[in-house]
Amino acid sequence: MSETTVLGTPAVVRLLLDAARQLGETLEPERVYDRFHELLGDVVPHDGVVVSSFDGADGLIRCEYAWVEGNRVDPTLLPPLPLNREGGGMQSRVILTGEPLLANDVVERVEQDDGTYYNVDREGNVRKIPEAGQSGTTAAMMVPVKHEGRVVGVVQLMRDSGEYSASELEVFEALVGQMAAAVRNARLRAERSRLEAAEAAARTRAAEREQAARVLEVVGDAIFLLDAEGRVALWNRAAEVITGRTGAHARERPVTDVFPEWDLLAERIPVADAASPPPPVTLPVELDGRDLWLSFVAVRSADGVVYAFRDLTSERRLDEEKSDFVATISHELRTPMTAVYGAAQTLLRNDVEFRPEQARELLEMIATQASRLSQITEEVLLTTRLDRGDIRVEHDPVDVGELARAAVLTMTPQLAEPAAIELQIDADVPPASGDADRIQQVLVNLIDNAVKYGGASVRIRVEAANGFVRIAVADTGPGIAQGEQERIFEKFYRGDPQLSRAPGGTGLGLYISRELTRRMGGRLDVYSEPGAGAVFVVELPRAGQP
Ligand code: ADP
Repeated sequence: MSETTVLGTPAVVRLLLDAARQLGETLEPERVYDRFHELLGDVVPHDGVVVSSFDGADGLIRCEYAWVEGNRVDPTLLPPLPLNREGGGMQSRVILTGEPLLANDVVERVEQDDGTYYNVDREGNVRKIPEAGQSGTTAAMMVPVKHEGRVVGVVQLMRDSGEYSASELEVFEALVGQMAAAVRNARLRAERSRLEAAEAAARTRAAEREQAARVLEVVGDAIFLLDAEGRVALWNRAAEVITGRTGAHARERPVTDVFPEWDLLAERIPVADAASPPPPVTLPVELDGRDLWLSFVAVRSADGVVYAFRDLTSERRLDEEKSDFVATISHELRTPMTAVYGAAQTLLRNDVEFRPEQARELLEMIATQASRLSQITEEVLLTTRLDRGDIRVEHDPVDVGELARAAVLTMTPQLAEPAAIELQIDADVPPASGDADRIQQVLVNLIDNAVKYGGASVRIRVEAANGFVRIAVADTGPGIAQGEQERIFEKFYRGDPQLSRAPGGTGLGLYISRELTRRMGGRLDVYSEPGAGAVFVVELPRAGQP
């Protein structure tokens, strides 16, 4: 064995330079071990290589890389060994002293010291010594791997015959030093890429969250998030618009601040998991004195329950109007139709001889009911056209007094007592601006109502008032309760027929009258004290006024 150092010889210098370059280029820790082993190649003869790490925290020595007789062996097959502080095997000694070890008497040592040794074959079979017989290794070199002065691993080189020399240990040590540096380098790089990837992922997540938040602000559905404590954690623009409650007044507060009856609502809103689409439920909700119909869906999320809702109040109202319409119209049509059908059937009977006045009575009934039918149809059609906005009204100069007189004349034959309608027309009433036919229609409807609901006497007055021409139709009937005074102008609204004792109607008359008056630039209002009759007042602009 030569005592002079081999590190200076040209072959070894070349080897180490190559090693430094090749190992330095390797970026994956696993690949560094393979490279190291390739470099070791024939320079230092061996039958086995084991790289172990040592973790000072748990005191365990773990195999990281193993190569046996031409084969890589799965390092996890070799069980982790505890560091033996007292005596112990060769590895423990290297870790404790931090000094390399060269042993050419491995067989004896393995038998004598109290370390744990394994024979590992090239198929990766691990068998403990001495149970598995004596050690297959004759010579071994072990070199510590250090980081900042602490031993963090051991690299072992073994041969099954022959011995190792001190100069081989020197070369081996130098290569291990370079390998350790390369592994550290590769690990640092891997750690850095991991951190960079994590940072990029965090940035992407933040961007996605920001994007989602922006989307939430612009979607038409109101969205809010309730945390486990029932507090509002998120409140978007649409939620502000529908509830009239700003985010600042909703966020971080109990949801019952916004929806006082939340507990009852929540019981009726099924909460779906993200996988299945949630069924929407439409519920009546009172919000600051307003009655709304809100359609809710709810989905459970990691941060709580996400609720989305939209305001279906107007759709709901439309639905109600539609069903009111169908109910009223079918009811209103049925009465005259039944009468017409009955009278016609009677007239068609062959077994009865009708006196002429009887036949006339039946025919008159058919005529009256048929005209009622066409009136109902007219009202419905007119309402639809008013709603669509395709009704044209004239703005001509109109003598309202004359129109009122004509309306009274039209109505009089239908009254039991002709004298019951009193008409007063002031002397100096200027012409109004409007549509003569439409004004007539409004007046007939008001007089008809006054007679139908008001009873015995009706007074009509036409006068000039502040740039308007005013027509007041007053009756002495039961009047209209305060709460009903606006509602009677709604489409299809009818007062309680029990109370008004009046025959049927569509509930469209006043709606149509008010809409027509408005389109002529005027207004229609009611003044009534319950029990003291009602006064319906039409005001039309004077002709020739801007
Ligand atoms: P209809 O007469 O077909 O019911 P209207 O729109 O003309 O429809 O009237 C709506 C409701 O207003 C009536 O059902 C009635 O209850 C009430 N009403 C109208 N005019 C009078 C009146 N002069 N006095 C009392 N109630 C009235």
